[in-house]
Amino acid sequence: MYRKNVDIKGVRIRWKGTHVFPYYPPTSGSFVSQKRINKLKPLAIRIFTEEQHKILKVFTGFLNRKYKGRHPAVKFDLEMAIERINNTIVHHYKDGDVYGECDEENIFIAKEKMNDSYLLGTMLHEALHYSCTCNNKYICEEDEHRVFNLIGDDV
Ligand SMILES: [Zn+2]
Repeated sequence: MYRKNVDIKGVRIRWKGTHVFPYYPPTSGSFVSQKRINKLKPLAIRIFTEEQHKILKVFTGFLNRKYKGRHPAVKFDLEMAIERINNTIVHHYKDGDVYGECDEENIFIAKEKMNDSYLLGTMLHEALHYSCTCNNKYICEEDEHRVFNLIGDDV
């Protein structure tokens, strides 16, 4: 079970409690490469596949509280999240403030120093943007970030 820990090239990725996002150790790591991204793709896909019900449950709970029990129709598009994990590419940003970005089809990860836990978390973070909908509409970024935080991301 990956929840305990996963070793990637001798680096252990850990999870705290029932979080979907991994624990981010305070180490710098090496520069992101396409090879490192590709190596983490199967794990990211496995996490989404195994955690899809939890992700939907946390989004639904958050949106039910926000809309005070009006029970909006919440969906998590697992296929979209997986497709975008598969479309994750390294990108050289001139501005060093960005770690990851996405659109509805692709994910771009900055060629910055990141440890494997943080790189994996950044991929999960970007893939979760747009993947959940409320009454067939995208959820605003601020609310998405609040939900990511509930499942262990330190946004
Ligand atoms: Zn974000």
